[in-house]
Amino acid sequence: MTKSTGIATVAADAVRCRICSVGKPIRSHLIPEAFIKEIFYDPKADEKHMIVHNEKGVKQASTTGWFEKGILCSDCDGVLGVYEEAALKLLRRLRHDKIGFKVETSSTINAKTYPFRVTVVDEFVRFACGILWKYASMNPTNAAFIVIGPHKQIFEDVCFRGSAIPHNVDVFIERDLFSFAAFDDPNDVYYYRTPSVGLRGTRQRVRMAWFSVSGFTIYVKMDDARSSDFVPNRCWMRGKKQCYFNVNPRSLTVNNDMPRSMNWIRPDLARLNRKLVFPSSPRPWKQ
Ligand SMILES: [Zn+2]
Repeated sequence: MTKSTGIATVAADAVRCRICSVGKPIRSHLIPEAFIKEIFYDPKADEKHMIVHNEKGVKQASTTGWFEKGILCSDCDGVLGVYEEAALKLLRRLRHDKIGFKVETSSTINAKTYPFRVTVVDEFVRFACGILWKYASMNPTNAAFIVIGPHKQIFEDVCFRGSAIPHNVDVFIERDLFSFAAFDDPNDVYYYRTPSVGLRGTRQRVRMAWFSVSGFTIYVKMDDARSSDFVPNRCWMRGKKQCYFNVNPRSLTVNNDMPRSMNWIRPDLARLNRKLVFPSSPRPWKQ
C-alpha cells in the first residue's frame, strides 16, 4: 500500500520498528494494559473507561487504553514488557503498605518515607524511562504527546540497549493520596495519568516528568542537579536495592483536576457500562 505525501511516495508497509529497524511495528500500549485493568470496577473484557485531556477538550471511550501503531515491533515491545510487569507487581505490593487510616470520610495520613526492597537494581527506573519514551515517540498530534528533548535518546539507550542510567536521570515514587482520601477503599486504583513535564521543587527547581499508575505518582528527573528539595534524597532509586517511597500531603493536589474530569465523564461511564451492577453500600476496606 502506498500513499502520496506530496514530496515523495512512501510505502506504508515499509515502516519498520524504530529500535531494531527490522521488525514490523505492532500496536504498543502506551500505558500497559494490566495497569489499565486495575482501574476497572471488576475486571472484565467489555468494561470501558474514559481517556480525558481536559486542557485539550479531548475525551474518548477506551477498553485497554491508547496504543501507538508505528513505533515498536513485538520483540522490542517485549523488552519494555518485562520492566512493566515487574513494576506492576512492585506497585501492587507497595499499595498495601499502611500509610494511614480512614474512618468513614476522615483520613489520617502518616507523611514520611517508607522502606522497600527491589529485586533487580534499576529495573523500575528503566520501566519509568520506557513509559516516557513511548509518549515522546508517539504521533505529535496526539493529546498525550510529550517533548523531552535529548532525554528521548537517553531513555531509548537505557531501555533498549542496556545503557547504564546516567547521573542526570533518576526516579522516585510517591503514594497517590487523592484516591486514598476520596474513595471508599484506599487500596483501590481509580485512574491513571499520562506523563506531564515541568519544574518541581521550591529553592532547587528540577526538571522532571511525572505520571500516575497503580496508586502512585512516578517522578523521573531529567536534570543535572544532583538533589532537589522536592523529595528526600533517600527516595531516589537509581543504583539501589534498598529504596523508599514518599508520602506527602501535596500528592492530593498533583492530580487535582481529576474531580473535574470525573464529573465531565460521569454520564459517559454510566452509559458505556450500563450492564455493571454496583453495590448499594461501600466495599469493606481491604487490610
Ligand atoms: Zn524491534
